[in-house]
Amino acid sequence: MDCPFCRIVTGDDTADELYRDEYAVAFRDINPQTPVHLLVIPRRHIASLAEVSDGEVHLLGHLQVIAAQLAEQLDLARDGYRCVINCGRHGGQTVHHFHLHLLAGRAMGWPPFPRS
Ligand code: AMP
Ligand code: ZN
Repeated sequence: MDCPFCRIVTGDDTADELYRDEYAVAFRDINPQTPVHLLVIPRRHIASLAEVSDGEVHLLGHLQVIAAQLAEQLDLARDGYRCVINCGRHGGQTVHHFHLHLLAGRAMGWPPFPRS
């Protein structure tokens, strides 16, 4: 199995996990870009947003609700946060197992800059 996030799901690799249920896992990003940087992933291997199907509408919503609940629990909701899905090469995706980034803890700029 060469997917790093599948290894976290199965327990073959450890992560700083904050949440797990039948469908999803959330853990801290190993290379945080903001003071709080979490990843919320489906337990099932889905390579990217481009691979999702109609049958996964509920799963995608579930991942976002988990992000919102974690933000609430970590007291991030008052100041706000950002959820990001990088998809494909131009989107900057480096791990090919779907993940929702939850970024928080400082104000962020918009829009995203081109890669230098
Ligand atoms: P992306 O560029 O959207 O594919 O994001 C992948 C993210 O996964 C990056 O922010 C990495 O720092 C993070 N990452 C990669 N491997 C691990 C790991 N084993 N545990 C936690 N985060 C990871
Ligand atoms: Zn995977």
